[in-house]
Amino acid sequence: MSETADSVLSIRNLKTYFFLDEGTVRAVDGVNLEIPKAQTIGIVGESGCGKSVSAFSALRLVAEPGEIVEGEIILHREDGDVVLTDLDDEGEQIRSIRGKEISMIFQEPMTSLSPVHRVGAQIVEAVELHTDLQGQDAMDHAIHMLERVGIPDAPRRATEYPHELSGGMRQRVMIAMALSCQPSLLMADEPTTALDVTIQAQILELMRDLQTEFDMSIMLITHDLGVVAEMADEVAVMYLGRVVEQGSVERIFVAPKHPYTKALMRSIPGIGGGRKTELHTIEGSVPDPFTRPKGCPFHPRCEEAVKGVCDVGDRPELIEIEPGHDVACVLYREEAVDA
Ligand code: SF4
Repeated sequence: MSETADSVLSIRNLKTYFFLDEGTVRAVDGVNLEIPKAQTIGIVGESGCGKSVSAFSALRLVAEPGEIVEGEIILHREDGDVVLTDLDDEGEQIRSIRGKEISMIFQEPMTSLSPVHRVGAQIVEAVELHTDLQGQDAMDHAIHMLERVGIPDAPRRATEYPHELSGGMRQRVMIAMALSCQPSLLMADEPTTALDVTIQAQILELMRDLQTEFDMSIMLITHDLGVVAEMADEVAVMYLGRVVEQGSVERIFVAPKHPYTKALMRSIPGIGGGRKTELHTIEGSVPDPFTRPKGCPFHPRCEEAVKGVCDVGDRPELIEIEPGHDVACVLYREEAVDA
């Protein structure tokens, strides 16, 4: 795992729980994650594994009945660190960080865009709030950003409402808005899932280009391993609220170690597999959110589970088994690299 000095954001032992009448959902239950500087980290895992809640926790946007109950999230800046988990979630400091230093884009652009305001005006609002540019200068910057994300005839498009644009164009507008203040970290939550494959490829290429141009980190939250393989430098695999494996994209795709990661990799349709090759599925389903299995939470579904070892005691901790490659599984205890 990357060292803090190379990270833009450190998430340490983060626990975010939702307190419902039916019980407590431990959506994020001890996440440790370093988001590398100027690189892309793909966060993968099935629905409900805590990927998005981790991102919302960093932005301090966890709504009631959710609450960060433990842990630290630290934003590393040139001029010193800011502990985001210490900030008032409605306070001025976190509001100046959201949208300026950390931006977020979603699967559905209408989550970010107002349907009743022209797209140019919406970008101007963000620019005026977070930079010194005001009035016509802010609008010129908004139009420049629309051009930068490939919107043709940007001055005219800036005067249109979101419903007048296609889905792909709305996604581009959302990216333009997210990047208008040059954030150091872009959180992208399933940014291309709702788009058809051609537009998806264009949006991914655009994100890659802008990342290089702005020297920005991307936290790419997705269940699509194809997108991760194409975009990410680093991968973190999450299961039931924790990271169970993290390493470079090459390591995770070529030689995954955790049985859950291996099962995920086997479930990708292969080009060379032939038309009649059956796709591998992961047996069973994610346990109900109120009750966690004892021991390793993956043991009821794990093909390599060791009876009497995996189903007792605490969850296995994440250990470094080779430089830059961490796994949380009892099978690798002997391979732990001493710190
Ligand atoms: Fe499977 Fe046991 Fe490893 Fe969990 S700890 S992934 S159950 S082998």
